[in-house]
Amino acid sequence: MIRIAIANQKGGVGKTTTAINLATALAATGFRVLLIDFDPQGNASTGLGVERSARNVSVYQVLIGESGLLDAVIPTQVPRLDIVAATQDLAAAEVELADLPDRTHRLDRALAGSEARWDVCLIDCPPSLGLLTINALVAARSLLIPLQCEFFALEGMSQLLQTVERVRGRFNPDLSILGVALTMYDRRNRLSEQVAEDVRAVVGDLVFKTAVPRNVRLSEAPSHGLPALVYDHRCPGSEAYIALAGEMIARLPVPAVAA
Ligand code: ADP
Ligand code: MG
Repeated sequence: MIRIAIANQKGGVGKTTTAINLATALAATGFRVLLIDFDPQGNASTGLGVERSARNVSVYQVLIGESGLLDAVIPTQVPRLDIVAATQDLAAAEVELADLPDRTHRLDRALAGSEARWDVCLIDCPPSLGLLTINALVAARSLLIPLQCEFFALEGMSQLLQTVERVRGRFNPDLSILGVALTMYDRRNRLSEQVAEDVRAVVGDLVFKTAVPRNVRLSEAPSHGLPALVYDHRCPGSEAYIALAGEMIARLPVPAVAA
């Protein structure tokens, strides 16, 4: 199972939308996918139709060692896609774990042992560089960075890359950057184009060729508890995520086996 963290400490840049729709596209391609909702807001869980009442065992219990990973796994309506849901409790984990010696490796350890059930694990990170995101970066083999095409997009990026360097140096030398996915791209807007150019100038080929367009279908889908790819698989947003998944598969550092 290859583990991929989807992170950017800015909120609202498209992490969760990317996580849900890439997970769905990969599952549709034949991969067995586990999505870990690692944000106390639980948007990935909601977006995949997991009711609050169905989140009795969530990633929080797994992280603090109260429950095993398999007890927290919930199948979704998408064949081959499972999720570990998140609840508000997860916010407390940052504090509760802070004094434990293995605080940075809790997720890594929780995932070990059950890996044979899935080919790919996507981790939808919260909008911060705190202990949760560190756990995700320690557990992951690769990092995917969604970047919204807006004026301050590049500002947070150097801080994120510094964090990656730190995690590499101290805990996880194999951590690689899979790519930067431009989100909410508006072709008619000069700023979008300019930001995309600037990002390419800084990180070069790490930027995926597919830019996800601003598309209202992508933002409507979660209120129906469905991935956009199921809600409307022909909308421009869905088509972009299918293309992005293809690019992503081609870049995986180790071949993940599709079923
Ligand atoms: P994050 O997880 O980084 O906070 P989200 O994926 O939740 O970001 O996206 C923030 C908001 O923007 C959500 O309301 C989402 O539905 C919307 N959104 C995300 N990507 C797009 C897009 N390409 N086009 C239109 N709306 C989008
Ligand atoms: Mg999110």
